Amino acid sequence: MNYDEEEFSGPPEGYTADEDILSSAFENHWDEIKEAVEDARGSDWLADSMICLELLSTVSERDFTHLRGGLKKFLRKGQNDGDQLTDEQLFAIASDVAAFIEKLPVTLPNTSFLNYAGGKLQRGQEPTPSRCVGIAAAKCILGDDLSWAKDLLAITKAFRDILSALSEPDLQEHYLRLRLQEPSQLLNYFLTRTPALPLIQWGFSGKQPSFGRCPDPDISDLPAYLAEWISDYLKNYYPRVGIGVCAECGKFFGRERRDKTFCSKTCQNRVAYKRKKILDSDALQHVNIVPDDAVDIVAGLWMHHPRFGIGMIEGLSSDSKPVSSMLQNLGDKQNARYRSMLARKVVVQVRFLHGVRMLTFTDLFEAQKKEEQLPDFYQVNSEERLAELL
Ligand SMILES: [Zn+2]
Repeated sequence: MNYDEEEFSGPPEGYTADEDILSSAFENHWDEIKEAVEDARGSDWLADSMICLELLSTVSERDFTHLRGGLKKFLRKGQNDGDQLTDEQLFAIASDVAAFIEKLPVTLPNTSFLNYAGGKLQRGQEPTPSRCVGIAAAKCILGDDLSWAKDLLAITKAFRDILSALSEPDLQEHYLRLRLQEPSQLLNYFLTRTPALPLIQWGFSGKQPSFGRCPDPDISDLPAYLAEWISDYLKNYYPRVGIGVCAECGKFFGRERRDKTFCSKTCQNRVAYKRKKILDSDALQHVNIVPDDAVDIVAGLWMHHPRFGIGMIEGLSSDSKPVSSMLQNLGDKQNARYRSMLARKVVVQVRFLHGVRMLTFTDLFEAQKKEEQLPDFYQVNSEERLAELL
């Protein structure tokens, strides 16, 4: 082929200049472009934020170990410690976090710059989440006062509760608001406990200054910084960026689908393996509860939930308990109707390996989708065997 200048008579047929493609895309596909840009912004933020997810996971995984231990202890000794935290458990969380912080790259002090960050940020360094965590963690020392570890646990649990409420696809607005109330109050407590993060100007790109917010090591603390990070997520990136908590190990992970329950195939397989072992053993015996008899569910029964695994029923909400004087005065037919009406109001409190969940009548007896499995109820035959297999 000859590419001589005389032969070249303009672009080939069907060729469109880049700028034409762009302007046509802006004109006709603006919404899709906006979505793609926001997606990209979200994944960049999540990649930058890995340090916060890992830190929260460190606390959460240790907490899951304690929750599991609590259930085993209850099975063996009949003693329910609830959410009580012992000194050893607190120390275990604190040392995990201290070890995590020790591994962070050290931000060298530079006294000639930025009093805002206590001189911990060098000229031109962006206050990324990982640098901010390093600066805010200055007070997390393994000493007599481990209240910072207690605070980190509280923040971790609040974030877990918020994500768990947000991951329920069919939760009505009223219930969602109720579920979010307590964890939001806790976050707000930490957000307002210390002064807001100072605004800093940290560098120049081209001739424009870049701004950011960075903890002051003398005033800010790690729990407050994490509360700030969580609210940044909820305000700017939810629901575009999905974050979940693994129902088996407690790790926080970025997820594409809302119903993804496990952080990895390993955790998913481990749960399936353990479930099979427990159900194949003589530890539990199946109990049949029909929807109209939901009021008969009692504390001490166990359940297997398709998403949350094995859990112990701690109680039934008082609204759904039949009033005995009513039962005496009603005839058989009306009695059955009364019980069936109460059954629809049932809210069961269940302690799963990863924490307590409230399940409604719909959660227990009504499949939302065709392929959805419903929980099964069991009574314990052998406490020791079940404790071994949990
Ligand atoms: Zn996991």
